[in-house]
Amino acid sequence: MNKYVARVLEDLKAKQPWEKEFLQAAEEVLSSLSAVLDSDSKYEKNKILERMVVPERVILFQVPWADDKGELHVNQGYRVQFNSAIGPYKGGLRFHPSVNLGILKFLGFEQVFKNSLTTLPMGGGKGGSDFDPKGKSNNEVRNFCNSFMRELYRHIGPNTDVPAGDIGVGGREIGFLFGQYKRIRNSYDSVLTGKALEWGGSLIRPEATGYGNVYFAQEMLATKGDTLEGKTALVSGSGNVAQYTVEKLIQLGAKPISLSDSNGTIIDKDGIDAEKLAFVFDLKNNKRGRISEYAKKFPTAQYYEGKRPWGLAKAELALPSATQNEINGENAKALIENGCICVSEGANMPSTPEAIEAYKAAKILYAPGKASNAGGVATSGLEMSQNAIRLSWTREEVDEKLHNIMRSIHKNALEAAAEYGTPGDYMNGANIAGFKKVANAMIDQGY
Ligand code: NDP
Repeated sequence: MNKYVARVLEDLKAKQPWEKEFLQAAEEVLSSLSAVLDSDSKYEKNKILERMVVPERVILFQVPWADDKGELHVNQGYRVQFNSAIGPYKGGLRFHPSVNLGILKFLGFEQVFKNSLTTLPMGGGKGGSDFDPKGKSNNEVRNFCNSFMRELYRHIGPNTDVPAGDIGVGGREIGFLFGQYKRIRNSYDSVLTGKALEWGGSLIRPEATGYGNVYFAQEMLATKGDTLEGKTALVSGSGNVAQYTVEKLIQLGAKPISLSDSNGTIIDKDGIDAEKLAFVFDLKNNKRGRISEYAKKFPTAQYYEGKRPWGLAKAELALPSATQNEINGENAKALIENGCICVSEGANMPSTPEAIEAYKAAKILYAPGKASNAGGVATSGLEMSQNAIRLSWTREEVDEKLHNIMRSIHKNALEAAAEYGTPGDYMNGANIAGFKKVANAMIDQGY
């Protein structure tokens, strides 16, 4: 490892040893950059790594809200404005009880490189709260969102910071947040993406992360002269990303056989088809039910309480779409033993370092989330463009743009990997391509 990288990582570990996910993300990215840093001393001279691993700004605030019985609760709210070298901060809000500063720093850091890869002018940020929307009434979720935005509004803006959704923040939450922003500011700003179509959203935004990930897998397979047609796929999660991953897999002739949530996994040996997927859309987005109900409805499926999909069935493809570190080294080995030839990440950092090592040792195709799930933020960028010109593009137009962006991320990652001596390594390629653009912009802009 390059000495400069080793020194920065060591300092970081000494300063915040408890921020495990952030350290994991920083180590993954920085370890990929040795060849770039060896070839040009300007990055070290300008202290680029030291600056990149510290957010430009972190905002931490209290979020008091009342439940339906009138009882008061207080959650923590955050916005991590990580890097604005190539555009306004952009990245989702996550509402989940596990949220803390270390997790949001890991997500914000990843977002910087991901946004750079999209080719659109967006910096990186992330935010959220340890609030758990699960089991809350609409009224309680609205109370929470109103209180969250009562503080956040002063830190965001169309040219400053444009949040979006993530785990626990879907169309309902974006609606409440946008309404409160508008009431306070008295201004219809393009300050959030993931809005509903009728009031400023973009066609294909809900689909974009899942569709984009499947397009990316398609590009990877094509480098081996292979296609998705007839391939069995394991998908985890059953939220936004998982649902549209399954939809696109079905459309392109693959056979998705699993979905999961934090309680367990269903495996449907006959495959999840369009009709079964419609049941999942209603179950998860309207009824807000658990995935175990799928196995009660469809006898071809079996439910595995407390299990993740990896290793439960043979499959050529794995598209993890739930959360970070959901595939460990053992899971990765089980996937490979069961015939997996391609892992394309819909979630952010779903594979542990041991899992990534196993993919590399087995020489299977592997795309890191910052490349393969970038379709979501890219289409958010397209939503911002449509808001700015006050026009809406058609479904076909947005889908075509999304598809082209995924093709260009794939090409840029592959080219950067080859240029720096690791051909076919999408992780190195994505990190290098994402890094160079942001680092060069930081140098151009001084300090
Ligand atoms: P949703 O909230 O819509 O769905 C999340 C899904 O993952 C749910 O099924 C949830 O189950 C499951 N899940 C969450 N946490 C855990 C956990 N700790 N263990 C097991 N299952 C879990 O979120 P999204 O679909 O939007 O996001 C999924 C992933 O994709 C995240 O990593 C996110 O950062 C990433 N991503 C999302 C983008 C987007 O556009 N939405 C863009 C790029 C990346 P349960 O209901 O039980 O909690």
